[in-house]
Amino acid sequence: MTENTPAIATADTYKRLGANPYRPWPARITSIQQLTPKEKLFELRIIDASVRDAFRHTAGQFVELSIFGVGEAPISISSAPSKQGFIELCIREAGTVTSAMHRMRAGDIVGLRGPFGRGFPFDEMRGHDILLVAGGLGIAPLKSLINHIHDERHEFGKVTILLGARSPKEILFRQEFDMWRHREDFDLQMTVDIPDDDWDGEVGLVTKLFDALEVDPENTYGAICGPPVMYRFVVAEMRKKDLDVDRIYVSFERRMKCGIGKCCHCGVGHKYACIDGPVFSYWEAMNLKEAM
Ligand SMILES: Cc1cc2nc3c(=O)[nH]c(=O)nc-3n(C[C@H](O)[C@H](O)[C@H](O)COP(=O)(O)OP(=O)(O)OC[C@H]3O[C@@H](n4cnc5c(N)ncnc54)[C@H](O)[C@@H]3O)c2cc1C
Repeated sequence: MTENTPAIATADTYKRLGANPYRPWPARITSIQQLTPKEKLFELRIIDASVRDAFRHTAGQFVELSIFGVGEAPISISSAPSKQGFIELCIREAGTVTSAMHRMRAGDIVGLRGPFGRGFPFDEMRGHDILLVAGGLGIAPLKSLINHIHDERHEFGKVTILLGARSPKEILFRQEFDMWRHREDFDLQMTVDIPDDDWDGEVGLVTKLFDALEVDPENTYGAICGPPVMYRFVVAEMRKKDLDVDRIYVSFERRMKCGIGKCCHCGVGHKYACIDGPVFSYWEAMNLKEAM
């Protein structure tokens, strides 16, 4: 059994810069896109060129976003690691920090710490089939992985993406994914709980999409991100398809503060979500008390 790879990118970025991981780097918002009534996609550019060049992340990692005078919140990086110079954050208006972020305009300055945590084991996944399952806002960290796979598509076998949302209006990156449905190099399927009059796709939970799915269990890695209730059921479907427990990866959201394993706010069993996760193999998660 393998453990997920360590949080190399975090240590590297700060070591290379000799920087203090508690100090936010000023970053300019370069564009804002309203994705749904509650979610916006922000593109940010770190102002200091030496920091911007040293900033490297892996899909599944997060940053601590700070709004000066308001506070900090952990947010997954949605853009691919191959996109250098900018990062994208898909943010739902949920509380203090995220609401303040939603009031920001292009050109405004915020703070960023990170990248933090362990992402998906991209190198280990290379050469295999990939099955990605996202529910709702869970697409935010998986989008980075999808984009990275897209950039290196020839390195992977069959890539299947299953997306679930409450309603068609709540599907994130809808325009982009509508086009992906017609691609031959990705099998992208969507389902909603509550359809509207224009919806011509599946209706039901994302687990329903597994019924007709053909998976090669010897050669497939799974990745899951979504609301907590989803994990147990999606893992069960993946296990029914005979995927190994150490080839299923889950990304956990826990309340976290420092992002660097010091403050102990984000304990999952005997580990911390901020440095040992947020991405864990299911085999690791099974051995963590109250992980799922
Ligand atoms: C690794 C990671 C990645 C994440 N990625 C994303 C992302 O890509 N996009 C995104 O939009 N969100 C993401 N989140 C979630 C985001 O960090 C939280 O929603 C965060 O709380 C938002 O901060 P806020 O100040 O806006 O909200 P808060 O003011 O913290 O409130 C958020 C919600 O939590 C409730 N709440 C506040 N304090 C508590 C408490 N002590 N106990 C229980 N409930 C409480 C509030 O009532 C409100 O409903 C991520 C979280 C983690 C851990």
